[in-house]
Amino acid sequence: MKNYEIMQKDLKYNWHPCTQMKDHEFLPLIPIKKGEGVYLEDFEGNKYIDAISSWWVNLFGHKNPYINKKIKEQLETLEHVIFAGFTHEGAVKLGERICKLTNFDKVFYADNGSSAVEIAIKMSFHFWKNNGLIRPLFFSLENSYHGETIGALSVGDVGLYKDTYKEILIKNITIPIPKDKSVEEAKKALKKAREVFERYHQNVSALIIEPLVQCAGYMKMHHPIFVKGLRELCNEFNVHLIADEIAVGFGRTGSMFACNQANVKPDFMTLSKGLTGGYLPLSLVLTTNKIYQAFYCDYKELKAFLHSHSYTANPLAIAAANATLDIFEKGKFKNEILFYDEEGESIIEHNKKTSNYIWEKMQRFKDLKNVKEIRQTGMISAIEMIDYPFEKRMGLKVYEYGLKNGVLLRPLGNVIYFMPPYIIKKEEIDKMINVAFEAIKSLE
Ligand SMILES: *Cc1c(COP(=O)(O)O)cnc(C)c1O
Repeated sequence: MKNYEIMQKDLKYNWHPCTQMKDHEFLPLIPIKKGEGVYLEDFEGNKYIDAISSWWVNLFGHKNPYINKKIKEQLETLEHVIFAGFTHEGAVKLGERICKLTNFDKVFYADNGSSAVEIAIKMSFHFWKNNGLIRPLFFSLENSYHGETIGALSVGDVGLYKDTYKEILIKNITIPIPKDKSVEEAKKALKKAREVFERYHQNVSALIIEPLVQCAGYMKMHHPIFVKGLRELCNEFNVHLIADEIAVGFGRTGSMFACNQANVKPDFMTLSKGLTGGYLPLSLVLTTNKIYQAFYCDYKELKAFLHSHSYTANPLAIAAANATLDIFEKGKFKNEILFYDEEGESIIEHNKKTSNYIWEKMQRFKDLKNVKEIRQTGMISAIEMIDYPFEKRMGLKVYEYGLKNGVLLRPLGNVIYFMPPYIIKKEEIDKMINVAFEAIKSLE
């Protein structure tokens, strides 16, 4: 009853994201009392495996002792300070280490993924303008998702979020994507991309992509040579490449960054989600000295990048980001437990083993008649059901089944996916997969 009471109080005032609020007439809203590791626990003591890392942000578990400690330390010295004209130790440290880690020269801060995308597209447009060129268009990929503020929505292509607002969006040109992860499909799509580049490039500031996996776009995946080929087209036609690694960065796809697998360096990279280990809102836009220099001059014209957010480079969020990077540097897995400064597997090595294990266990989904395809890229695994009409809301049924059985799954339409925290253990994986299997099976 406790859950129900809290739900009723919540619904009196709160309006939740990405939700038809009327659904809560039949769908329980789950109040969470605490989290630990991969588990979330409600007010009646029910536990749920967080198979989606709370919207893809959590990497090393809820209530992670190390990140907790680092945020507490920061809290004792400085909670926040304006970032224009001022700086702080955490930002000095994060700036250097993130640039070295990504091989970029400069970092600009914001506080959520959509804002980082806004910044990247504004910076790209502004770069060309500072060079005397007006390039009002952007290229983006079919089925892409880059966030939901007006600019970010404009370069996205998921109709569910975008179509309503089409009259008020900025202009973009959509490039077709490969049908699957194969090399042949990537090559076919690149041929079509070339035609689009040839036609529009002179008016285009940048191409924005989600390298390797379009997460919100139903976990569609492509081969790294597609990313490589797009980089080459951007070079040839003198268009910037923005790699939106907000969802795929920080080890999600099997390498530290997805672009690493394509051996590609973009002109801009956006990061958020896993950046703070799932603790606090923070995002980054990384770029090169070449871009930075186009804004650097005596103060006389509108050449400086005057974009700002009140909470730019918040010290608490940055402490969480530095702690997360510490874990990537020093964290080692031994018998499925994360240690520091000890011998063992690195996070990336461990993720490879974990994703292999998940892939092995997922093979049995192929036996289900209502499963069309299973696919995986690193720590992102997806099961696509047959094309049930969206109004049947089969995904929602899987979601409800999952909750009743202790697993938080949040399907995208007919696609069920696993994107768990990296600390998930085999036993927990078994449960997560069994529950998803039974859920899908129950719909056959
Ligand atoms: C989540 C996401 C965003 C938007 O980030 P928010 O913090 O939700 O605004 C942008 N791009 C990609 C690829 C994402 O997955």
